Amino acid sequence: MPLRERLRTLERIARRLDPEPADRARLAEASVRYADRFLSQLGAIGTYRGHEPVGEASDFALAEEHDELPRMLRLLDRKVNRPGINPAGRGHFGYIPGGGIYPAALGDFIADVTNRYSGVYYASPGAVLMERSLIEWMAALVGYPKGSGGDLTSGGSIANLSAIVAAREAFDLRARDYHKVVVYLTEQTHHCVDKAIRVAGLRECMIQRVPMDNGWRMEAGALDAMIRSDRAAGLIPWLVVGSGGTTDSGAVDPLGDIAEVADEHGLWFHCDAAYGGFFLLTDYGREKLAGIERSDSAVLDPHKGLFMPFGSGALLVRDESQLANAMSGTANYMQDTRGGEQIYSPADLSPELTRPFRGLRMWLPLRLFGLRPFRACLEEKLLLARHFHEELGKVPGFEMGPEPDLSVVTYRYRPEHGDAEAFNRALLQAVHDDGKTFVTSTMLDGHFTLRLAALHFRSHLDEVEYLLELLRYEARRLLDT
Ligand SMILES: *Cc1c(COP(=O)(O)O)cnc(C)c1O
Repeated sequence: MPLRERLRTLERIARRLDPEPADRARLAEASVRYADRFLSQLGAIGTYRGHEPVGEASDFALAEEHDELPRMLRLLDRKVNRPGINPAGRGHFGYIPGGGIYPAALGDFIADVTNRYSGVYYASPGAVLMERSLIEWMAALVGYPKGSGGDLTSGGSIANLSAIVAAREAFDLRARDYHKVVVYLTEQTHHCVDKAIRVAGLRECMIQRVPMDNGWRMEAGALDAMIRSDRAAGLIPWLVVGSGGTTDSGAVDPLGDIAEVADEHGLWFHCDAAYGGFFLLTDYGREKLAGIERSDSAVLDPHKGLFMPFGSGALLVRDESQLANAMSGTANYMQDTRGGEQIYSPADLSPELTRPFRGLRMWLPLRLFGLRPFRACLEEKLLLARHFHEELGKVPGFEMGPEPDLSVVTYRYRPEHGDAEAFNRALLQAVHDDGKTFVTSTMLDGHFTLRLAALHFRSHLDEVEYLLELLRYEARRLLDT
């Protein structure tokens, strides 16, 4: 076949990748209709389905020939959107609930269709400036001065990793010294920080677990003493990580006191506020998290506290040039991209080059709704947690953890006889079998403990009262059997 003819044949097939307007409309309409039906059925789907039949990977196998979208959506519905945890469910009180506010999906839709290249200013100055504006807004929320900056990441784990790499480079740590380098965490620091230390090549460094008070908050006095004795022993105290809300219990470390100690001894102070950072939008949260403004770096997760869909994290640094020193790179094929612009591009501030235009999914709902409902939703979550703590505490047999610092409540049932752990496991199982709400467990001080994490934008008073009633009822039922 002559080349031109072959090209025309290939073109005819390849053009299927770019549907005509009528086909686009049909595809978009079917997708939106599916999303609407999913949302209207949220109550029926519930929040956890542990017994739903699960398919096999081959259910999703690809083929040479095309499929029909309606059939594919039915498959998606049965095999993906039923079994397991439903993160869109209004009864989600497990782990740290994610978000998924609707206009964020529209932001993703537009970002994906236009596919602006947000990694580099030269390619899309507008996309970079929009993200810059979001970073500046978050940096101001944290209380960082001019010269600060950061990056929108895929999540908190990656943001913590980048912070640790920035801290490593800022201190010019050398491999030959790693075995003398000391990091200060607590037993409650998120495990992604341990992981990040390893991934950053620092597996040999020493990890000191600073003692905590009875609310699982770091003891700044103990931190100070540890740093002094480590330094006297010839070690190199380097990094302290304070939590702006731990995942397990929602405890907020005394960030101001930690900053004081870090300042005095010249440590890098990183604040992991992936869970709790956006409570800074409330008066109460600003008080609780006071001191975060003195950190050198901080992580916030918009896919938690700003109710965005998964894939939205944020790293903020007090001195943006330190992040750029750790992350920037260039090459000959990038030479056209170097203009005289005065701002860093995301590619200068992260290990990523090509990346999704993360800013649009975040900017669109924030601007569309305004900040007021976000603040209200966060304050509501703080109060829901307090309400739950107070009400469950009135039920005989339930032993409550400390007053929540933020929106996580820990609790367990104390049966008069028998195995307390088995009892609480059974109680957890009963909540899971019910499936309308979803809670998780942890180990605290060696005890099997149940948790409630209020952070879902669809969780309101009714969902909390439903769970309270369920726990009361199931505890009684378990006692009777
Ligand atoms: C969720 C969480 C992380 C990890 O963030 P991902 O977005 O899940 O990667 C880190 N630290 C804390 C305190 C968290 O709650």
